[in-house]
Amino acid sequence: MASIVSIPSKIKAWTYTEYGKSAEVLKLKSDVSVPQVKEDQVLIKVVAAALNPVDFKRMIGLFKASDPPLPVVAGYDVAGIVVKVGSKANKFKEGDEVYGNVNEFALDHPKQHGSLAEYTVVEERLLALKPKNLSFAEAAGIPLAIETAYEGLERVGFKSGETILVLGGAGGVGTLVIQLAKHVYGASKVAATSSTAKLELLKSLGADVAIDYTKVKIEDLPEKFDVVYDAVGNSEEAVKAVKEGGRVVTIYGEVTPPAILFLVTSKGSILEKLNPFLESGKVKPLIDPKGTFPFSQTLEAFSHLQTGRAIGKVVIYPI
Ligand code: NDP
Repeated sequence: MASIVSIPSKIKAWTYTEYGKSAEVLKLKSDVSVPQVKEDQVLIKVVAAALNPVDFKRMIGLFKASDPPLPVVAGYDVAGIVVKVGSKANKFKEGDEVYGNVNEFALDHPKQHGSLAEYTVVEERLLALKPKNLSFAEAAGIPLAIETAYEGLERVGFKSGETILVLGGAGGVGTLVIQLAKHVYGASKVAATSSTAKLELLKSLGADVAIDYTKVKIEDLPEKFDVVYDAVGNSEEAVKAVKEGGRVVTIYGEVTPPAILFLVTSKGSILEKLNPFLESGKVKPLIDPKGTFPFSQTLEAFSHLQTGRAIGKVVIYPI
């Protein structure tokens, strides 16, 4: 377990010692211990990380019951360089550029030490090699959102030639659902919703029809779809836009049948499967137009994400 770089014993990490809003409880600590590398894990020098709504939902204590004890280092998504390999880990070697979502189950015992740190440890099965054409910042925004997009499409058995409506097309998950449905699954028609200013973006990602939800009610749409992917938490409306016998998948909120809800599972194998589409440019990362937030400005990044208006991914870089 010799290492190619000298790893400090104390590192910087965004940490909370009590539950609450990010602005109140999340602090940049500079004396956090580097976590021990278990046999199936690798230690990563974090280069970039990305935020997800689950970060702030967890931080306010919504999932207390299944959380490790505080303090917690926040963060799910990571892109970085392997600097140490566990005794039974054989998928990666030191120096490999990898990316992934560090928490296998988003809400079920997520790690005490997450990705918003200079170093983090991750089970190698949750990681994949970073697509060669993507920067660390671009790659960091991909894992949790693309795993969610992909798992949702798989759960409803989305197939080539089918039509799909994506509610929440401009967010971290929605931007990837549009791209996967169109460019990976071969949808015959992709429709997606956003507010007025984001309609062109939806089209640039592959939506054939961009619907302004501030002007049109989903239930009034003249067309019904084979599948509705609800990335907003609005399954009551989503089920009104599906064909009879069609399928609806939702990722948040109350579930109105026949919609189904699931919680994402982190898998390096999904990233490996989708890497060719990222490397060919068919599926593109989308960093919020505000640009990346340096590590020191993670609180500003959280407050932007919490507006609910972010476009694509809110990325922390450099770290
Ligand atoms: P984001 O914060 O990235 O989504 C922001 C986007 O949502 C904005 O661009 C906004 O566009 C759009 N939006 C907000 N309200 C609406 C609306 N009513 N109709 C259409 N678009 C809307 O979130 P994520 O995409 O990362 O996550 C979305 C939700 O899914 C969150 O609640 C998250 O916790 C959950 N989630 C659940 C997972 C699971 O495993 N079940 C996994 C991942 C996420 P505009 O300004 O145009 O409204």
